[in-house]
Amino acid sequence: MRKRILTYFIVTLAAAITATTVIMTLLTYNMFEKRVTDDLSVDAKVISALMESEDAPQVIAEVQGALRVTIVAQDGTVLYDNRTDAAQMESHLDRPEIVQALKEGEGRDVRRSETLERSTFYYAMRLEDGRVLRAAKEASSIWSVYMKAVPLILLMMALMMGLCAGIADAMTRRVVEPIRRMTEETGGNGGENREEVYPELQPLLSRIHSQHEEIIRSANMRVEFTANVSHELKTPLTSITGYAELIESGMAEGDMIKRFAGEIHKSASRLLTLINDIIRLSQMDAEKNEIEREMVDPAMVAENVAEQLRMSAQKHGVKLNVDAKPCLISADRRMIEELIYNLCDNAIRYNVRAGSVRLTVRPVKEHVLILVQDTGIGISREHQERVFERFYRVDKSRSKATGGTGLGLAIVKHIAAKHNAKITMKSELGSGTTIMVRFERVG
Ligand code: ADP
Repeated sequence: MRKRILTYFIVTLAAAITATTVIMTLLTYNMFEKRVTDDLSVDAKVISALMESEDAPQVIAEVQGALRVTIVAQDGTVLYDNRTDAAQMESHLDRPEIVQALKEGEGRDVRRSETLERSTFYYAMRLEDGRVLRAAKEASSIWSVYMKAVPLILLMMALMMGLCAGIADAMTRRVVEPIRRMTEETGGNGGENREEVYPELQPLLSRIHSQHEEIIRSANMRVEFTANVSHELKTPLTSITGYAELIESGMAEGDMIKRFAGEIHKSASRLLTLINDIIRLSQMDAEKNEIEREMVDPAMVAENVAEQLRMSAQKHGVKLNVDAKPCLISADRRMIEELIYNLCDNAIRYNVRAGSVRLTVRPVKEHVLILVQDTGIGISREHQERVFERFYRVDKSRSKATGGTGLGLAIVKHIAAKHNAKITMKSELGSGTTIMVRFERVG
């Protein structure tokens, strides 16, 4: 951050200093140029006035060091020059100041000398007899003025950069300090002293805070889940070990062996279902948001599930009716089957003798509703919210006796969430339960 601020500073500063120097030099040089040519014009006028007098050649010779004086004829021939032999000089008709003086009465020009450092300034005026008198003088060129300014500019830049580094340091520290303090606080009290931090950072802070809580919550849930799983696995395993030991020690005889083997079988099956459910849940947890969607007709799936559950319904003395209208949703077929299966399975298992289950699939406008209604034992209000939690059971012994794992509705909730489907539950203790899942319809 310090580096960035510093770079911004230095770039801005360098640009500002350079621009100022260029502008200032141009301005002052313009003024300087005007001064020089103005002086030259005065000199030329004085000389022209003197030309009539007989002292002229002497005066001109005297100013030789400072001024160059040339007299040019109308046709460009050099008639006189106080520094060079006029006879050897070429025609001056191509010199801009001469041309201009011939045309307008006076002319000016600035030309660079052989070296970059100096320029020659010319001022020419037409005399009454048509000849042109020119005065010329060498002075520093704009380039040399620049060059003279360079060391000063560099010195200034160095000084300013030092100053910038100091300011950047102080600024960085001031900007970063509250953020650093905030970082310390998020770990501790969840950022209670928030007023001290920038208001611009509030959303970020709240976000970090809620993410923090989310992480803690999910870590807790994981710990709880693991504890529950271990506990759930322990019961059937203890039972299996117990019966196996009895058989092994020879304490069981005849029919008892058969009964014990039956118990072992039952516990082993429980273990299998439990492990299957756990695997399904962790698979769905791991899959993140990716589900394999295809066009699914939930009505067909419903018929299929009802077929699978017919035996179980008969065993529980429950009538199972299906009322399914063909329609389409975009979904993972296996998950939809699991969802309907779990809901119907519960409706049968938590039912009463001679009760009934009604499974309905109905397209309604842009939605498809899957309804599972039963005339069973119902769920009291206080339990209704919690039955979708993993391993939550209202009546543990009934759940276990009917082969429940406590994970069926958790899986249903998970599947619905993955399909953006909405679950609603209506239940009354003693008269029955209705669970409705609403999907987006695609056909
Ligand atoms: P389980 O394997 O125990 O059935 P679920 O997650 O499917 O687990 O259901 C959680 C609990 O919700 C069940 O133990 C039961 O107490 C209650 N429950 C679920 N469906 C019904 C229903 N249709 N009628 C009454 N109670 C139900």
